[in-house]
Formats: sequence, C-alpha cells, structure tokens
Amino acid sequence: MDLYYTEEQRAFRAEIRSWLEQHVPAKALTSFDTAEGFEQHREWERTLASGNWGMVTWPKEYGGRGCNLIEWLIFEEEYYRARAPLRVNQNGIFLLGPTLMEYGTPEQKARFISSMASGDEIWAQGWSEPGAGSDMAAIRSRADRVGDEYVINGHKIWSTRAVFADWVFCLLRTDPNSQRHKGLSFILVPLDAPGVTVRPIKQLNGLPGFAEVFFDDVRVPTFNRIGEEGEGWSIAMATAGFERGLMLRSPARFQQAAKRLLNLYRRKRNDIIDLSIEDSVVRCYLDAEAYALSTYQTASRLQAGGSIGAEASCNKIFWSELDLRIQSTALNLLGAASELMPDELDDDDEAGVWVDGFLFAQSGPIYAGTNEIQRNIIAERVLGMPRR
Ligand SMILES: Cc1cc2nc3c(=O)[nH]c(=O)nc-3n(C[C@H](O)[C@H](O)[C@H](O)COP(=O)(O)OP(=O)(O)OC[C@H]3O[C@@H](n4cnc5c(N)ncnc54)[C@H](O)[C@@H]3O)c2cc1C
Repeated sequence: MDLYYTEEQRAFRAEIRSWLEQHVPAKALTSFDTAEGFEQHREWERTLASGNWGMVTWPKEYGGRGCNLIEWLIFEEEYYRARAPLRVNQNGIFLLGPTLMEYGTPEQKARFISSMASGDEIWAQGWSEPGAGSDMAAIRSRADRVGDEYVINGHKIWSTRAVFADWVFCLLRTDPNSQRHKGLSFILVPLDAPGVTVRPIKQLNGLPGFAEVFFDDVRVPTFNRIGEEGEGWSIAMATAGFERGLMLRSPARFQQAAKRLLNLYRRKRNDIIDLSIEDSVVRCYLDAEAYALSTYQTASRLQAGGSIGAEASCNKIFWSELDLRIQSTALNLLGAASELMPDELDDDDEAGVWVDGFLFAQSGPIYAGTNEIQRNIIAERVLGMPRR
C-alpha cells in the first residue's frame, strides 16, 4: 500500500473536482423517491454520462474511463465532497452493469449497457420475496419456458426504486421441480410489461422508496436471461459480491458525514451537557478515516491481483454500524431540533438532512444481506467456526 498519490492521480482529482464545481446543481435535488425527484436524478445521470463520469471504472467502450480502484476512490471522495446528487441508477451501474460485462452476451451488452450508463433506463433489483429474504434460495416466483419466451408468475418485495424504475433484474425459478439454489435463472423484466403490477411501500420517511412487484403471466423473450438457464444462483452471488464489496458504500460517504458531524459539533459545543457526545464525535471521525484506510489497503491488494472474499461481510457490518453512530450522534447534538421532519430544513444545522439520514441508516444493517447473516459468514468462512 502506497500512502502517497501519484502525479496522475492528483491530476485526475483536479479534473473531477473542476468538472463537479461546474456541473453539480446549486440547489439540492428533490428526493428520488418522488416522481419529480426521480426524473431530476435521471437528468443528473445524463449529465454525468455526458462527461463520461457515470461509472469511471467501466471500460471506455461502455462510456467509462477505465479507471482503477484507487482512482475510483478518489472520484468518490470528490463526489461526496461536492455533495453531488445520490445515484438513482445504483442498482444498474454498480450491480447489473458489472454482471452483464462478465456474463452477458455481446448482444445483451449492446442492448442494455449504454442505456443504463446514459440514465435512459433505470434498474431495480427483484430478488427478495415474502418468505425468501435472508433465505434467498427459497425463491418461489416462476419463469416457465414457452418456446422462445418465459412466462413469469410470482411476487417480489422490497424492490428499491421499483416505483419509478424502468426495468427490474430478477432471480426466478425456471425449473419448477428444483430445490433451493438449483433451477434459478437471472432474468431481466421491463416494469411496463403487461401483467406487471408495482405496489409502492412507504419507508420511514413516508416516501415510497421501494415496492412490491407482482407478475401475472408476464412474457419476456429468452434473450432477457443472463447466463445459462438454471445458473442464476452463481451469477446472483457474483452480483451480491459487487454489492457487499467495495462499490456499494465507498468510505467517502462516511468521511463526509463525519466531517459534517464535526462541524455540527463545533457549532453546538457550548450547549452540550452530556460530554460523552464528544467521545462519540471523535470515535465517528476516527472510524470513518479507519474505514477509508482499510479500503485503500483492500483496493491496493485487489489491484495487485488479490481477491475480496468474506471480508466484504466485515466491511458491510462496519459501514452500516458506523452510519448509525454518525447519524444518532448528530441527532444527540441537535437536541429538540432533531424532531424536525426531513423536509423541514432549518438553516445551518440541516436538521432535516440529519433526520432523513438517521431514518435511512436504520436499514443499513438489513439491506445487501442482514448483518446477522454477515456475522454467520464471518463465523464460518473467516473464523472457521462450525456450522450449526
Ligand atoms: C432499504 C432496503 C432496501 C432493499 N432493497 C432491496 C432490493 O432492491 N431488492 C431486493 O430484492 N431486496 C431488497 N431489500 C430486502 C433485503 O434484502 C431483505 O430485507 C433482507 O435480505 C432480509 O430479508 P427479510 O426482510 O425477508 O428478513 P428475514 O430473512 O425474514 O430475517 C428476519 C430476521 O431474522 C434474521 N435471520 C434470518 N435468517 C437468519 C440466520 N440464518 N441466522 C441469523 N439470523 C437470521 C435476519 O437477520 C433478520 O434480523 C431491501 C431491504 C431494505 C431494508
């Protein structure tokens, strides 16, 4: 691990900083969990793509910049520093995009990747079902093959962004006689296809951040299947690896939040009665920095040909618990103002932003595989403890 940036990396940082200064909207966009905000964020994806900043690690032929992981970390630091909009197409660009590049046919890549990069098609993820969340191998939704089509019937739940998204990538049972992780396939479904019903679910902030998706005799061509029929599980595990690994939550997100927390503390320090809050502020700041250093170390190792395994589970637990601590420490500093609703922005302290962050942070230990499941993985694969 080299703790110094090269000339090229410094130049790259300067380039993205200058581009963001010129392009990040002066006024924060409306939440992408509203119809209006969703379209604003889609437009922002188009703006990013116009500068080839949509997904810097993608190859140039797909609209990326062929950046390595260290450059990606630098990009993320600048992105969060500029307080640029959240990524409405993160399911597409972070999860499905890399999956397509690894497992898609040339025709599938040509069909789906550029419209994803441009923000013209926004993706949702359709894996969880009632009764198949942590135990995803219990999936029951079916895709029955009829000629060169699949006929899909079933019910997905907790599908983030599905209320306004264009497509959903699903894990579906293509062999009705199969059990568990065998006989599943990875299939792409347009959310405006006849037979698809999307029912919004409100999150804690009252907005429909995710949805249930019902399939009633929905027909899609077999072209929409990624990989071989029945091999969806191993492809989904690769996608889940992208999700829990480095990409989903870069350290910059928490470093910036910790810096904002420090600024909030500076403004509030004379009002503090419970001095233990000071310890929490320092702990949050140090942990965010430690997470960044640890991620740089992992990125260096990956670039040297190493791989990321069960430590992705350690990362996921660390950042989700850190986020909870940052957000709740902020609410403790805000005192009574922390009861403002997310859309009731006050002046300098941004109480509404913190409240929104606090509400969302509650879900960190659940999505991308619950922290209990991550602890099972660590126990078995890192610590070598026996399986119960
Ligand atoms: C904000 C958010 C966004 C999401 N987005 C999506 C999405 O876009 N697409 C999608 O498909 N899903 C999504 N999910 C769903 C998420 O993946 C599931 O909620 C998660 O996998 C847990 O499944 P479950 O809710 O069915 O809980 P369950 O699996 O029923 O678990 C309930 C509790 O039991 C615990 N538990 C279960 N099994 C074990 C075990 N073996 N050992 C120890 N503890 C166990 C769990 O940790 C949990 O605490 C999202 C969830 C959230 C909160």
